[in-house]
Amino acid sequence: MDIRNIAIIAHVDHGKTTLVDQLLKQSGSFRENQQVAERAMDRNDLERERGITILAKCTSVVWKDTRVNIIDTPGHADFGGEVERILNMVDGAIVLVDAAEGALPQTKFVLTKALARGIKPIVVVNKVDRQDARPDEVHTEMFDLFAALGANDEQLDFPMLFASGRQGWADTELDGPKKDLAPLYDLVLSHVPAPNLDKEAPFAMVASILEADNFLGRVLTGRVEQGRARVNMPVKVLRADGSVVETGRLTKLLSFRGLERVPVDEVEAGDIVAVAGLSEATIPETICAPEVTEALPAIPVDPPTLTMT
Ligand code: GDP
Repeated sequence: MDIRNIAIIAHVDHGKTTLVDQLLKQSGSFRENQQVAERAMDRNDLERERGITILAKCTSVVWKDTRVNIIDTPGHADFGGEVERILNMVDGAIVLVDAAEGALPQTKFVLTKALARGIKPIVVVNKVDRQDARPDEVHTEMFDLFAALGANDEQLDFPMLFASGRQGWADTELDGPKKDLAPLYDLVLSHVPAPNLDKEAPFAMVASILEADNFLGRVLTGRVEQGRARVNMPVKVLRADGSVVETGRLTKLLSFRGLERVPVDEVEAGDIVAVAGLSEATIPETICAPEVTEALPAIPVDPPTLTMT
């Protein structure tokens, strides 16, 4: 299956959760009752119930035979390079901005990092149904912001959609048909490059997110950078200097489906996977097939630096 990996960047309350829920619903990649059950419970409760601390949430929707992995970027602060590690797993981003409030610090903070990485974001001017919405002004403000943050010509030429996540539509025109989110899905498929990675090379991924799960123990999430991960395959874990942290087996592979993670037998380069079975591995080490000798390039874990509130 074709894949797109994107980050979603927004200031808190600009409508990220609502939009992603609508994307899930409209993609039809979910049974209706499952969606409702998920939605009925606050996601934080869901995390607590399962004993998982999720720093970055990944949602996966299928649109026109393409799996779109949407990774939430924490906007409040940069915990030791976390934002960069997330941005390293994606090839595109949706910058979601409230049509009344315009860009706020968290948007700017993550957008700066996305632009620096060469990502060409899609801008979504959201909540245009608001009484006090000023969509055209906010569109212009976003252009000015991109320029102020050092966007290159290609990045400045960003595609833009007006949207109401709450009403479940996105459109290039404000007086368009306001039907559904198809224009946003289609834009993601056409504007964001597919990951271009070697599926035949020996398996390797960078551990980019670490969680402690009550049942599975250490769960490490990252994008498969080369080859294929198979359940129960022997692996080793490498530090940046090439030293071996541990050897072991991938006892469980979890792939993202909707808001859920489901066990799978195999994941190939380009897809995002959560793996269990390792006892020492941590961020940002390389988990790889035994024959791999060099760690993949990775963003080091810096001491936490509070950059924005
Ligand atoms: P998040 O913090 O970015 O995940 O934002 P939420 O999706 O939780 O939305 C924050 C608030 O904005 C909630 O009260 C939503 O009901 C409201 N909201 C979300 N999308 C829209 C929209 O398209 N239009 C309007 N008017 N309100 C919205």
